Amino acid sequence: VVATGEKRGLVLVNTGPGKGKTTAALGQVTRALGQGMRVCVIQFIKGKWPTGEAAFFAGQPGVDFLTLGSGFTWEAEKRQEVVATALKAWEVAKEKVQSASYDLVVLDELTYLLTYEIISDQELLELIDSRPQGQHLVITGRDASEALVARADLVTEMRLVKHPFSVGIKAQKGVEF
Ligand code: ATP
Ligand code: MG
Repeated sequence: VVATGEKRGLVLVNTGPGKGKTTAALGQVTRALGQGMRVCVIQFIKGKWPTGEAAFFAGQPGVDFLTLGSGFTWEAEKRQEVVATALKAWEVAKEKVQSASYDLVVLDELTYLLTYEIISDQELLELIDSRPQGQHLVITGRDASEALVARADLVTEMRLVKHPFSVGIKAQKGVEF
């Protein structure tokens, strides 16, 4: 049992098919900022529309909010470009995690880099182990790998019960983006 107040950097993973992985991570960001902590968010996938969270956090002190991924496409001819962009984002993530400038780092949609074998489990575990003591790390994305789940301190799986997408309701501003 860890005593209350003992400072320990945790690895948190939000995964699963239901909605709420990224928004829960942003809730952690809000909580940490309110505690005066320094935060970095790196988004590995850029959605179709500019998000409310990117607009909001861009104007906030204490947080560096970086959307570095490309749009999510796996068309064969774009694949190389997607991989190259993801690898660049990965290099930035390593630099940020290891810089000791942040108390909390969020790697949003990072699991896709593992799913598509752009990075290996070993590379991710090395990054996790190389971070400054006390730094919290939040990783989101579907299908978190077994190795990541094993290494994480906290794993939450969002379960899909119902989503408006399944009855053809399009993404809504302020809810999805
Ligand atoms: P959010 O960013 O809203 O917390 P998420 O991070 O859990 O969602 P992602 O897998 O990153 O979900 O997908 C991002 C987008 O896809 C969001 O607009 C989200 O509403 C939508 N989405 C999430 N889950 C589903 C689902 N089961 N079916 C259809 N669309 C979904
Ligand atoms: Mg997400």
